[in-house]
Amino acid sequence: MSQPTGGYIGRFAPSPTGPLHAGSLVAALASWLDARAHQGQWLVRIEDIDPPRCSPGADQVLLQQLAACGLHPDQPPVWQSRRHSLYERALHALIQAGLVYGCACTRKEIEAALLAQGVNRARHQQAVYPGTCRLGTHGRAVRAWRFEVARIPGANDLHWHDRRLGPQVQDVVTEVGDFVLQRADGLWAYQLAVVVDDADQGVTDIVRGADLCDNTARQILLQQALKVPTPRYLHTPLVLDARGEKLSKQHGAPAIDTSSAAACLAALREAAQALGLVDEADMSGNISDHLNRWIGMWRARQP
Ligand code: GLU
Repeated sequence: MSQPTGGYIGRFAPSPTGPLHAGSLVAALASWLDARAHQGQWLVRIEDIDPPRCSPGADQVLLQQLAACGLHPDQPPVWQSRRHSLYERALHALIQAGLVYGCACTRKEIEAALLAQGVNRARHQQAVYPGTCRLGTHGRAVRAWRFEVARIPGANDLHWHDRRLGPQVQDVVTEVGDFVLQRADGLWAYQLAVVVDDADQGVTDIVRGADLCDNTARQILLQQALKVPTPRYLHTPLVLDARGEKLSKQHGAPAIDTSSAAACLAALREAAQALGLVDEADMSGNISDHLNRWIGMWRARQP
């Protein structure tokens, strides 16, 4: 894998589950502004490794929407669905290093094992794998590959820094447990693909929505296991809908309107406002005038 060259490389990594909405535009704009403020490169990566969740043609729509908003990547976009061999190689390296083990458990068996241990978890809360296959599958066929987090020193007290939110800490061993890198259906887990791609593309700075904050400790452990650098992180504020819920494609957030320059500018202004950037009084200028002003404001407030 290539190492960062020293210069700033940022990225926007949407999953093509639908068009850009007001929430994803905030992440796109923030990552673009941060790259521009650092005179860095800005990449776009289409995270289409989970076909059932992807919506056909959404990748092209996303790219068109970004372009209409004046957010142009510095290199041609990449698609995760064309990069399986990289994930395969990384998984193989982790297996060789003894940091990953094959797991034969079905979801039902995991639930039963947790119940037997008297573990009661809140509904929707992710199950912490009870470790059944850590010492082998006892002849049962391997279904998925799991990362043995406790093998990484400090996994139970992992500290990292977010440029907006400040110091963060997670006990990945007890709060998350041995997480899956390749699923029983053969699909790659987001955690592995994102770490492998960020390292391969030399990404130095990750700017993304705060909904992804909770994944960061896991990703840092994987970076350590794969011996690749840890980027800097900045998680942007989430845009909430009228009910106070996070805007998401699953909850039917409407696509941003990019049918005219005026509509794009309105969407961008809303995104900039969510980032605390808009000067209400200043409506003058076209998209690139606004973008340039925001770059200056963004740069001025970065430490
Ligand atoms: N593909 C992820 C998403 O759209 C984002 C990944 C990332 O920025 O790390 O939610």
